[in-house]
Amino acid sequence: MNVMTAVRAASDTKAVEHFDVLIVGAGISGIGSAYQLTKQLPDRSFVILESQDSFGGTWLTHRYPGIRSDSDLHTFGYSFKPWVGPPIATADEIKSYMGDVIAENDLARHIRYKHRIERASWSSDTNLWTVEAVRTDSQDPVTFTANFLWMCQGYYRHSEGYTPDWKDVDKFKGRIVHPQLWPRDIDLKDKTVLVIGSGATAATLIPSIADTCAHVTMLQRSPTYFRVGRNAIELAETLRQLQVKEEWVHEIVRRKILFEQDAFTRRCLTEPEQVKKELIGQISAILGPDYDVATHFTPTYRPWRQRIAFVPDADLFEGIKSGKASVVTDEIDRFTEKGVLLKSGRELAADIIVTATGFNLCMLGDIALRIDGKPLDFADTVTYRGMMFTGVPNMAWVFGYFRASWTLRTDLVADFVCRLLTHMKTKGVNKVVPQLRAEDHNMPLLSWIDPDNFNPGYMMRNMHLLPKRGDKPEWQHSQDYWTEKDEFPKIDLDDGAFVYG
Ligand SMILES: Cc1cc2nc3c(=O)[nH]c(=O)nc-3n(C[C@H](O)[C@H](O)[C@H](O)COP(=O)(O)OP(=O)(O)OC[C@H]3O[C@@H](n4cnc5c(N)ncnc54)[C@H](O)[C@@H]3O)c2cc1C
Repeated sequence: MNVMTAVRAASDTKAVEHFDVLIVGAGISGIGSAYQLTKQLPDRSFVILESQDSFGGTWLTHRYPGIRSDSDLHTFGYSFKPWVGPPIATADEIKSYMGDVIAENDLARHIRYKHRIERASWSSDTNLWTVEAVRTDSQDPVTFTANFLWMCQGYYRHSEGYTPDWKDVDKFKGRIVHPQLWPRDIDLKDKTVLVIGSGATAATLIPSIADTCAHVTMLQRSPTYFRVGRNAIELAETLRQLQVKEEWVHEIVRRKILFEQDAFTRRCLTEPEQVKKELIGQISAILGPDYDVATHFTPTYRPWRQRIAFVPDADLFEGIKSGKASVVTDEIDRFTEKGVLLKSGRELAADIIVTATGFNLCMLGDIALRIDGKPLDFADTVTYRGMMFTGVPNMAWVFGYFRASWTLRTDLVADFVCRLLTHMKTKGVNKVVPQLRAEDHNMPLLSWIDPDNFNPGYMMRNMHLLPKRGDKPEWQHSQDYWTEKDEFPKIDLDDGAFVYG
């Protein structure tokens, strides 16, 4: 069956549009992938489908006060577009940067907003994906066909955050808010606010509301690591004083940051106790000798097993030092009319409780995938280097880095996908599917991410739903930018792990 017959067959009643590549999501990954596709393979037709009404993904969804990146924008930003502001950026600044990328590269005409993809089915008869979306404004169904699915839908569900199942939540007389669904009408003025959680979201939100509320308390079950420093990069400032071009500043500063991050990550493995001492020492120095850093800021895990948030200008700690914010380390027994009762027996009263308790992991954007009529169970697949999956043809997922900026992987995966698409054209084939080779069949199958290496709650809660990884480099998902940046460009596309058809 040729493409046109397949397109007609996909729907008898509705017009079906066909694209060579269909990108899911207009977040930082989707826009970056689209840019690379236009530059590397300008002859390919493509569309980006996005369920929200604008671009930005994470930076559009999250609207809580103070929302900002926790990694620097020289590496979170794209390699091809200089970042000219302070390294830690607000959501608005990131959206504006993405907007410039879209405008400068004429990408807007490729994006369809308000298109939520619900189903995608692969047919080996046609070597096409049929993608069924719903227009979120009219609820009209829309169908597309595509040769290749480029999954840039991120890793968590945008429509809801994660809230643990606490006892007696309904008894609380105040307001409960999840940062992911921050209400526009909320007034924090002179209110007592309790923020549950101590990750990057809590660390960002607390300093930005501390001056408005009567008092804000951060309640954490256990402490988290933070890094503090000035929201500036001295080298960038010096280069700018010397009137070095912004393209050079971006590249030089990126290299410096990546070099230092590599050294820091390795130190976390080789001398974790020393790194721990340094991180905690920075906080002690700000909060002073009388502050109980041992209880509130001394994690029990090794640094980097969870993401380490950067706190620019130590604003969280300055808030604590000033007395406007405080920290309680304890567990919630249950909610009460006034607030929460802790396991220690102490009650924390609040007008507003903010549940900064994280995300619901969401694989593949809640899209029901079928391969030749059979529903795909993602957990039955083995990942090819954390970007393709055994038995799943013509699909790549951009799952970025956690220890380095997410976007660094967007670029690496994009180069790989463009190389793969070129290779397929040269070979005259329309299908590529990763498959375990004969020598891989006795390979132990491991969890998606090594929990000893990296173990945030949202991953651990859902590991059973994620693809498996093997113990060979081809089937690993190492989350190691510094090895992948050298290995990905050398991937042998004629290796037996790729089956073409
Ligand atoms: C508050 C917060 C702060 C963060 N800070 C950093 C940081 O500083 N540095 C860092 O490296 N990482 C950070 N991260 C991780 C962050 O999510 C990624 O870095 C990055 O923004 C993800 O980009 P993405 O485009 O891959 O996915 P997302 O930003 O999640 O965007 C995915 C897009 O796909 C769309 N989509 C999903 N499913 C469908 C569907 N079925 N149909 C149509 N559209 C769909 C969504 O609407 C969304 O717009 C942060 C995460 C959060 C939540």
